[in-house]
Amino acid sequence: MKKNERLCAQPETGRTEAGKYDVIVIGGGIAGCSAALASVRHKKRTLLIEKLTVLGGLATTGHITIYLPLDDGYGRQVIGGISEELLKLSTKYAYHGVDISTWKEEGRRYECKFNGPAYSLALEELLQSEGVDILYDSLFCGAEISDGICRGVYVENKSGRVLYACGAVVDASGDAEVFFRNGSRCIAAENSLAIWTYFSGIPQHSIVQKRGGADAPGLNLVSIGTIDVTADKHIVTEPYYGDSGENVNRFIQDSHKRLLGVLRSDPSAAPAALPGMADIRMARRIDGSYELSDKDANAHFEDNIACTGDWRRPGPVYEIPYRTLFNKDLRNVLSAGRCISTSGEAWEIIRCIPQASATGQAAGTALAMALDCGVDVQDLDVMKLRETLKADGMILDVNKG
Ligand SMILES: Cc1cc2nc3c(=O)[nH]c(=O)nc-3n(C[C@H](O)[C@H](O)[C@H](O)COP(=O)(O)OP(=O)(O)OC[C@H]3O[C@@H](n4cnc5c(N)ncnc54)[C@H](O)[C@@H]3O)c2cc1C
Repeated sequence: MKKNERLCAQPETGRTEAGKYDVIVIGGGIAGCSAALASVRHKKRTLLIEKLTVLGGLATTGHITIYLPLDDGYGRQVIGGISEELLKLSTKYAYHGVDISTWKEEGRRYECKFNGPAYSLALEELLQSEGVDILYDSLFCGAEISDGICRGVYVENKSGRVLYACGAVVDASGDAEVFFRNGSRCIAAENSLAIWTYFSGIPQHSIVQKRGGADAPGLNLVSIGTIDVTADKHIVTEPYYGDSGENVNRFIQDSHKRLLGVLRSDPSAAPAALPGMADIRMARRIDGSYELSDKDANAHFEDNIACTGDWRRPGPVYEIPYRTLFNKDLRNVLSAGRCISTSGEAWEIIRCIPQASATGQAAGTALAMALDCGVDVQDLDVMKLRETLKADGMILDVNKG
């Protein structure tokens, strides 16, 4: 062996315990970051496991650069808490000139445009400063579950396959990985083909211009796919699903073909980077104890733990019940973000960045409280949870008469 070489560690296998945490969060997207922040702020030792090498999930590596609105379209703010904090954080480094103070002006909403790579770094800086342990480049690949309790999660990374023991888990994987691998019933939705890419040389997409804020000089974000983004609803012209390896691969490779088509037809177009995640909007979600659907627009739920307006237009406001975060099978696991239990237009609304953050905060807080009280997630005193969420800046009960 040469002086600057060393013997590689043998891969771990089986039950090697790499650490023990109160709360483990699977997925470092916006929901996972918010859940980890809420958990650590409630004094729980918290580990965030992410398969990629940066934080933000679709919002950053999927090239999704609009933090959609926190208001109802009529000048009333309906989302606060960590979601509002993360909206402000999104412009901390790049595009920090974005002025959100004027959002109540006619035709404007409480939203902003951000730069993905700068946002990833800002998220990492915040989570580290608050004491969240982050484990990058590590794929969650299974859990030790007995009697409905998840006692540890398996991760595959350069060390091999290792086990992290835990008291509770947030499934913020975007596709309900923990629930799915437990054998719980999950549901997939139809998606349109999409690939968001930064280009130099071709004009930016109209939706970006409409929502204000330029990209980095010389770069424009362009959406290519089978969707009519100018329509009120997403019109799916050819269905894609994100619920199997085969389907995700079909999506990725077809979206690359589309991109190649653009390059072939426009020699001046030069992409700056390809998305690091498949731009699938609604992959797989849990079949929870309550399924929030279109009929619930403007309805009041006694157990609401977050609220949201419709990012597409002024109008419906949803209260999100705590029961959308869990099912009957798992006693110490909550879902957060785009894989909670919701369907139809409600899923279309709730899958977005502000809502992912809000349900992430609710999940992280609820698990911290469930551990303190020694109860299953299904038996948590939801009124106490709501009091805590309100004290932490969240807005609830927007539909209460
Ligand atoms: C084409 C498109 C356009 C969109 N436009 C907008 C928009 O303009 N504004 C807006 O607000 N929203 C938009 N969205 C929606 C939004 O970006 C996402 O739905 C939201 O960011 C979801 O956050 P999340 O944390 O729930 O999930 P994700 O962002 O999917 O995060 C999940 C994380 O978990 C990780 N993960 C998954 N499996 C594992 C595993 N086994 N082990 C370890 N880690 C794992 C992933 O790598 C990822 O980082 C758009 C989405 C798409 C696809």
